Amino acid sequence: MATHRRGDRVSLAAGKERDAVGLADRARRETTARIADVLATAPEPPRDVHIGWGAALDVRGCPARYRSQGAGGWGFPGWSAPLAAGAVARAALAHHLARDAHLTVPAGHDHRLAAGPPPAPLELVRGWMRDARRDRRTRSVAGWVGDRWSAGDHATLAATAALASRWLAGFLRVVGWPLPAGTVLLGAGDSPALRWRPAPRSPVTVASGTDARIGRVTGGGAHVYLVHRVTSGDDDTLRDRAAFEAAATTLAVGVAPAEIQVTCGDTGERARLDVDDDLVADGIGMIVAVVHERLRSAAGAGPDDGATPSSRCRWCERVEECGPGRARQRSTGRWRDGLPLVAPAPDGAGG
Ligand code: SF4
Repeated sequence: MATHRRGDRVSLAAGKERDAVGLADRARRETTARIADVLATAPEPPRDVHIGWGAALDVRGCPARYRSQGAGGWGFPGWSAPLAAGAVARAALAHHLARDAHLTVPAGHDHRLAAGPPPAPLELVRGWMRDARRDRRTRSVAGWVGDRWSAGDHATLAATAALASRWLAGFLRVVGWPLPAGTVLLGAGDSPALRWRPAPRSPVTVASGTDARIGRVTGGGAHVYLVHRVTSGDDDTLRDRAAFEAAATTLAVGVAPAEIQVTCGDTGERARLDVDDDLVADGIGMIVAVVHERLRSAAGAGPDDGATPSSRCRWCERVEECGPGRARQRSTGRWRDGLPLVAPAPDGAGG
């Protein structure tokens, strides 16, 4: 079975002119064919291969770690305050925009505000969470908030409100107010998150994790997708995240966007990555690699097969049983207990 590595290329080029619809058509055909090729090698097709950006980055970072998570780690882990923060913030802002629709330039889902001061993030989030008390949709973030109210879990509600208001304050800081013309908040209000399946009965689902679209979708592909982060996090993975989102949005919408923008609320940074053949092809490689690793897991791949030591090993729960990861962490220069090692740690030393 072939191993999909960083830099795998799919030839999507069709000439010098950027053809956003043609690029998407070729991306869909290419991804469908490659996933079918991988699935054809399985004695039994896997069930529910959900490919979001977390799985894609996990596989790119260390396939052994991704496989070790097993069924419990491959799916949605359920809402928690950190996971719900972005969804709550987007829902609260979408609700605010819909409620003040008289201030909105009506152009489809266009939420451009003509006037009005920016909303106060914590008040907006708290108000939306109070309204969610009556929500009984168990799988939605509003249903989860309603459930926390019913359980009297005020600590989780307070943590969620704090994190969501921080997310929202950073989003407004970077994106600006009024929101740019044609901004649509994804996974909120009447704009669901973007998903794609290679075939109607395929076990594979690709889900974009972008937070907003800026600009209307037209055949020219001038629109932009935005990924908002509260903190800058691991910038080594920024291009990988953009590559995955370039592919996921192109597959889901059928038109390649012009850019993926990755923003950071704490610093106000905004990285812009042009969506071209190379970026989409890289993202397709990440998607196919997840399917490939799921099959390798079912086929009984060794726990250290594909182990890729990196700074991630420091937080990996497998580090003590993983040979390559343990060796890396016990080498000179690694950090342990807040201090850098100046000599290799003896076997059995804590880490
Ligand atoms: S310890 Fe490092 S190399 Fe080993 S599985 Fe974890 S991340 Fe991968």
